[in-house]
Amino acid sequence: MIDTPHLTIAQLADAWQHICAASPADKADPLVLDCAHRLASDPGGEHAHVWVSGLVTMSGYLAWRPGQTAERAALDALHAAAKALADRPCSHDSHPYEAEMDALEDEVWAGDNGLLTGELASPDGDTDTGRILCPVNVAGWARLAADVIAPFSVRRIPAGAPRYHHSYIRTLSGIVNDYPYCDPHDVLTDEAACLPPQPTRGVLAGYLVTMNATCWYAASESIMDPAVPAAMVKGVRAAVTLLSDHPCTHGPGEHPDTNDPDHLNRVGYLLRSPGSRAEFAEDYGWDDEDEDEYEEEPLDAWVCPAFLHDLADETLDALKVG
Ligand SMILES: [Zn+2]
Ligand SMILES: [Zn+2]
Repeated sequence: MIDTPHLTIAQLADAWQHICAASPADKADPLVLDCAHRLASDPGGEHAHVWVSGLVTMSGYLAWRPGQTAERAALDALHAAAKALADRPCSHDSHPYEAEMDALEDEVWAGDNGLLTGELASPDGDTDTGRILCPVNVAGWARLAADVIAPFSVRRIPAGAPRYHHSYIRTLSGIVNDYPYCDPHDVLTDEAACLPPQPTRGVLAGYLVTMNATCWYAASESIMDPAVPAAMVKGVRAAVTLLSDHPCTHGPGEHPDTNDPDHLNRVGYLLRSPGSRAEFAEDYGWDDEDEDEYEEEPLDAWVCPAFLHDLADETLDALKVG
């Protein structure tokens, strides 16, 4: 086990870099807990950017299969930092974290967030240390990391799905509405195969929702090649084994209505990144200013494993009919 209290920040930062989704819990959890405790002890403090950087760097691990205590500690610390820092006075009209949101491929930010040093290594990145270390930027990164670990657990994320998500929504909408303008055979086969091996909760939920939105078309006479529904069955079966054991916290009738494939198609991609989820939440009138008031619509039901198990069963039934 790593003796975290005696490591320098540079040594800790090096250890954080080596944590990924596949890291074993006995290696990753002590680093997460150490970082989360340091952030939680002074979430608005002068070193908060360092500890937020650590949790952002380890968010690939935290979004996959972290120890329960480590996950809770990380989320609490990130929420506390976002709350403590977000409303500090600032004269900037934008911050570096917003520029990176369009590039959140499969949600987890693999690049440099700049928070550790106040500098961004990428050639076209922001070089303004004041903006990089601005408390509002640090709070922005804390929110993005918290939302990747626990979708819909934070507000005030700038709305805007990555451009390629909108493009998938348009392509699939053509198929779902039976006027495809790309070859549905290829599109649906590619969709069925697109799940990464260790998806975040948002990406996994989005995948299963998209499969449900398109299963009726794949099972219809419009698709003659049985390889298409077969690829989707294979993909859905594999995805179900990746669902986490987070318990269902919803009451009767709180799981989403799934009767409208076109709506499901849109949601399927809007579940897959923080900016996408913020765009989706806007439709439901989530009030950005009212973070503490819980809204009527439990949007986190879209990533609930119990809901997704039922949805996958419905998808598999439909595909077997075809
Ligand atoms: Zn600022
Ligand atoms: Zn549920």
